Amino acid sequence: MTSKEIRQQFLDFFKSKEHLIVPSAPLVAKNDPTLMFNNSGMAQFKDFFLGNGTPPSKRIADTQKCLRVSGKHNDLEDVGFDTYHHTMFEMLGNWSFGDYFKKEALSWSWELLTEVYKLPKDRIYVSVFQGDDKDGVPFDQEAWDIWKAIVGEERIILGNKKDNFWEMGETGPCGPCSEIHIDLRDEAEVALKSGKELVNNDHPQVVEIWNNVFMQFERMADGSLVPLPSRHVDTGMGFERLCMAVQGKQSNYDTDVFQHTIGFVGNKCGKVYGQDKWSDIALRVIADHIRAIAFVIADGQLPSNNKAGYVIRRILRRAVRYGYTYLGFREPFMHSIIPLLADQFAEVFPELKAQQDFVAKVILEEENSFLRTLENGLTLLDKIIAETKSQQSTVIKGDAVFELNDTFGFPVDLTALIARENGLSIDEEGYKAALQAQKERSRKDATTSAEDWVILDEDFEKVEFVGYDEFETTSQLVKFQKVQNKQGTQYKIVLDRTPFYAESGGQVGDTGTLTIGNTVIKIEDTKKENDLIVHLTSDKNFEKLVAENGSQISAKARIDLSRRNLTNNNHSSTHLMQAALKQVLGAHVNQKGSLVNNELLRFDFSHFQKVTDEEIAKVEDIVNQKIRENISLLEERNVPIAEATTRGAMALFGEKYGDFVRVITFDKNFSVELCGGTHVPSTGHIGLFKIISESSVATGVRRIEAVTSEKALALINEQLSIVNSLNDLLKSPKDLVKAVSSLIEEKNALAKKIEVFEQEKLQEVKERLLTKIVSVGTVNVIAEIVEVPSADALKQLAYELKAKIGDLYCVLVAEIAGKPQLAVMIADNLVAEKGLNAGQIIREMAKEVKGGGGGQPFFATAGGSDVSGLSKALEKGKSFVA
Ligand code: ATP
Ligand code: MG
Repeated sequence: MTSKEIRQQFLDFFKSKEHLIVPSAPLVAKNDPTLMFNNSGMAQFKDFFLGNGTPPSKRIADTQKCLRVSGKHNDLEDVGFDTYHHTMFEMLGNWSFGDYFKKEALSWSWELLTEVYKLPKDRIYVSVFQGDDKDGVPFDQEAWDIWKAIVGEERIILGNKKDNFWEMGETGPCGPCSEIHIDLRDEAEVALKSGKELVNNDHPQVVEIWNNVFMQFERMADGSLVPLPSRHVDTGMGFERLCMAVQGKQSNYDTDVFQHTIGFVGNKCGKVYGQDKWSDIALRVIADHIRAIAFVIADGQLPSNNKAGYVIRRILRRAVRYGYTYLGFREPFMHSIIPLLADQFAEVFPELKAQQDFVAKVILEEENSFLRTLENGLTLLDKIIAETKSQQSTVIKGDAVFELNDTFGFPVDLTALIARENGLSIDEEGYKAALQAQKERSRKDATTSAEDWVILDEDFEKVEFVGYDEFETTSQLVKFQKVQNKQGTQYKIVLDRTPFYAESGGQVGDTGTLTIGNTVIKIEDTKKENDLIVHLTSDKNFEKLVAENGSQISAKARIDLSRRNLTNNNHSSTHLMQAALKQVLGAHVNQKGSLVNNELLRFDFSHFQKVTDEEIAKVEDIVNQKIRENISLLEERNVPIAEATTRGAMALFGEKYGDFVRVITFDKNFSVELCGGTHVPSTGHIGLFKIISESSVATGVRRIEAVTSEKALALINEQLSIVNSLNDLLKSPKDLVKAVSSLIEEKNALAKKIEVFEQEKLQEVKERLLTKIVSVGTVNVIAEIVEVPSADALKQLAYELKAKIGDLYCVLVAEIAGKPQLAVMIADNLVAEKGLNAGQIIREMAKEVKGGGGGQPFFATAGGSDVSGLSKALEKGKSFVA
């Protein structure tokens, strides 16, 4: 069975059990403060378990792209070394939301594994939660009984709280789970040792493939467990491990999921998989990491220097480095795998195929820049090694290892490897200490903490956002939470219905007020947390106010409407501009980032060259034309996603859409977009649109910033007033530009004339000085006040005199633009024979003009602030020889 068939069989099986099949959520988690990347199938359904929403069906199944490289689940360091943990993997899952429970879930999983996939029954082991006295959770008798009837007692393993009890977080839904493990060893090995003993023992061929979680309790803040009114099932099966089992392989990498990539990369570097330990590890790392990188970029996250962008950059660098060290790659290679991968996943995850060129280009640029880093790091490391050896040491200092890693992105294990090749080791303790110190520093920068939510309305079900139509509501307070963050102490407030738009899709959150009784609380921002809309205030009176008003509190919620209207202008303009960009630049333009607030709009999009001035002008023209047409907004709230797509609505990669979407149209032949943001009722409201900048943000990504309405007008007025002032200054010439350029030409011609004139003048001064030589012993002394136009001219004069006169001792002082300037030039032989030093002499002279300077023994200069001391300075200069 091919991996494609295996995936399809899973979905078909659960479809036949009345499950709704849904698409994978994007890899990059949005609106979830606890998660950077989706790391399990249930992540996109979290709200349903928390009671913040209702699922579209009580039974759902899917395959979810997961990434386990940060936070609670981080498998990165194992990847490549073992054969069954990936950075990105697919998690096949089925869910029951208050519907079926253990009996169905467990017997279906058995049916699927043994009857559909035909896995050998005598190689399967299952685990059941043994209970935990301290925690007061009982042994999972129910699961035990179900499994006993299916597989018999001897195939059941009891598991402890760590392995077999699942909790969403400190508080919230939790429950026992039951894992399914499979033994894939050879017959001979099985004969020697029972698979049962190897379960949960990190054996590469006795692995967990499926976990069935049964949510039946809720963990309260005081640690106690309360049974949930409705019980849920949440399962996750590792797709790649399943393929290994079904295809009878002993490693995930031997399946058709990875073999194409491994073959392709092997060909490129001339290595055959399975012949050498380290090149195998490298091939596995690369085959694994390229998937994570490609799909994260396709889901809209570009490599960068912070947060999710940094995680992905590090994964890419890890792969490039393994290629560099063990496969001999010196040129970028990762990007060339993308077409192959895009084809392989075109059916399940079409987002990669759709952006294939873009993703490859981003990766290529990252590779190029990291390969340069590697070269630089190697040079620096060579130096460090030489230094270490010259100090008779055999250990590279921890600080140096840290600096290489932190500043140059140079991986620690590579440093260790190269050190070893040079007969040295690295100070790991010192490195760890330096790393720890840095972590402490960044932790201090980002301390946040939160108290428990205070619930005010127990019956609350789902937040209702009414802000498309209403700007002021009477609402009930549902709950609030006190948090500490960079802004200091803030309260997060949840209302049952709210006109406040929560920051998302690039549009800023609304600000406004909340009036409780007669007291007005300022709402400073509005954010999304999963499906909650959270209003933020720093008003210290809030908590007191709540205490005074009892448990049922109603409040008037009102948004700052003028700010919202300005934001609407910018958001609608973003839509018009995106459509215009596609017309002018081509269909490859896709949104890569967006910011919309009341000041401006910023739009990042895929495009490989600078947008020219003509193109910018065209885009502006189109948008302003559409504004003048005063096109009415067509807002449709519940369009089936399929219909929206066939109507050509622009959707964003990496955005999660439900079955029904909101479609925003300004002229159905021009701009149709899926969008949750707020907009103008008709384009005329925007008034005017003006692009203010165009730049590059990353490889293949350009950024345009623009302003609209009041701001655009203000900008144009400001520019006009500059032009008017110029006109006045130039006495209203017929052609202003011509007038300014002829001024510039004239100025340049004059400057040239002056230069010639000054040179002539300088020669005259020189001739005059040659008549003023005084002999003191064998020394030819010139000491004069001169008239020169610049410090450079003074210097030139001194050098020319030196070239002309032997045994010269020359002191020149001048007033240049109202300031004293001094120079001393001494013939080289005098410096040597008489111990004269121009640098010292000039410092003495400079005192007379309240200044300072310096130079070399034969020539020095100084400036000052007091011209009245010029003659004294000159006398001082002379005194050294006279
Ligand atoms: P393991 O102990 O093997 O790391 P886990 O307990 O972390 O697994 P779960 O969180 O229960 O796994 O995830 C459900 C399933 O997802 C697992 O049974 C396994 O098949 C798969 N899985 C988990 N982590 C990975 C990974 N890093 N790569 C591939 N598959 C994975
Ligand atoms: Mg794990």
